[in-house]
Amino acid sequence: MDKFSSLATKFEEIRDYTRVERIGAHSHIRGLGLNDLLEPKEVSQGMVGQLQARKAAGIIVQMIREGRIAGRAVLIAGQPGTGKTALAMGMAQALGSETPFTKIAGSELFSLELSKTEALNQAFRRSIGVRMKEEVEIIEGEVVEIQVDRQVGSGPAAGKKTGKIILKTTDMETVYELGNKMIESLARESVSAGDVISIDKSTGKVTKLGHSFSKSRDYDAMGSTSRIVQCPEGEIQKMKQVVHQVTLHEIDVINSRQQGFLALFSGDTGEIKNEIREQIDERITDWIEQGKAELVPGVLFIDEVHMLDIECFAFLSRALESEMAPILVMATNRGFTRIRGTNYRAPHGIPIDLLDRLLIIATKPYSEKELKQIIQIRCEEEDVNLTDDALSLLTTIGMETSLRYAMYTITSAALICAKRRSMQVETEDIKKSYSLFVDAKRSTQFLHEYQREYLFNEVDDEEGGMG
Ligand code: ATP
Repeated sequence: MDKFSSLATKFEEIRDYTRVERIGAHSHIRGLGLNDLLEPKEVSQGMVGQLQARKAAGIIVQMIREGRIAGRAVLIAGQPGTGKTALAMGMAQALGSETPFTKIAGSELFSLELSKTEALNQAFRRSIGVRMKEEVEIIEGEVVEIQVDRQVGSGPAAGKKTGKIILKTTDMETVYELGNKMIESLARESVSAGDVISIDKSTGKVTKLGHSFSKSRDYDAMGSTSRIVQCPEGEIQKMKQVVHQVTLHEIDVINSRQQGFLALFSGDTGEIKNEIREQIDERITDWIEQGKAELVPGVLFIDEVHMLDIECFAFLSRALESEMAPILVMATNRGFTRIRGTNYRAPHGIPIDLLDRLLIIATKPYSEKELKQIIQIRCEEEDVNLTDDALSLLTTIGMETSLRYAMYTITSAALICAKRRSMQVETEDIKKSYSLFVDAKRSTQFLHEYQREYLFNEVDDEEGGMG
């Protein structure tokens, strides 16, 4: 288990890598757009309208920050395209990158690789951070001399570099043995005599802090070797406290397989044994008691929660009781519908006893003015320039079809516009895109008209949407 801390730095590198941002559907959302009193501004941080829901979400963010809501659950319910996912993304942004935030869609749980409850369990544990404090030895000083030797011959040590560095601190020079990693790090930073550097002994990382000409001149004038103190073990100049944050899931993965660490890259983590999780939980509880670690409850966001079945809901109810539970935020666009895996109907397809424990936030359809503002923000995000007429036409189309259809049209109309080598999207480009891609309403109408000509035409639908 003690390999946790040495691997913590690597986890952070992975997380940076996986956090690479694309222009996604919600990339224009930078927060909830609230002021210090949690009052929403009409348009702020990429968020438009939906004032009540944004304020409610802001209160939840505040409760999460104050640690007063762990193990509770929130449901965002509303018609399609009313910004439920956008609201959850706004909460993630408002909480900041230190708070773990996991987003899954209900349908993702039904894969052949993992059982539903294992997939849910992993998502839960991805949403809980463990902040670990570690003492790190740092050596700081001005470089007097670096000596590097390469092992020759054909044995296992062939090519391996060893070396020494002479560092000068206030009134003393000390010789430190160098390992391979430190030598590489020194070369990368192109460290030479006269540079002031720090060496992190646990990772071998060298950082250049500056260059002291005056000090090296002093040294030249005074002569060298007579004042060097041999200290092959190295000498600790400073103890620095470094805080690493990893998730419970990351700890599970590295302890569950030999190649666990690499599995974090591929995402192919497989099922994790219960005993391993129990051991980990015990160890972490000890660390918390000893003041070496603390838990950071994050947020697990489950979109399309009506896709979950009764087994998943039973798991959620149980998991929320645990001491190590994140805040669960769910979203649905369904009204009364069947709870999957049963013959019962319930509001949003969620069992009544779980529903009873939820804080529910309702989202409402947008006005034409709000829709126009959202489209405008998306155009800025995608660097698309629309004429006023094109914007008005797209807003009308958005009101008739859906916000999402209008958003897709921005991208396709921009491509059509680029084809005719123009920089500004005009109404003609929008019309062309509208005729090329049908929206759900036109597609349904088409189906009604030509249903008989399709291969399968059974219609058996009891799902109740909120529209
Ligand atoms: P569904 O029920 O179909 O899943 P939804 O309610 O989750 O829909 P979103 O996906 O959040 O809707 O919204 C559709 C698009 O509109 C997204 O790109 C989203 O970022 C954007 N959007 C929605 N509401 C707002 C808002 N209030 N301000 C800015 N952008 C918004």
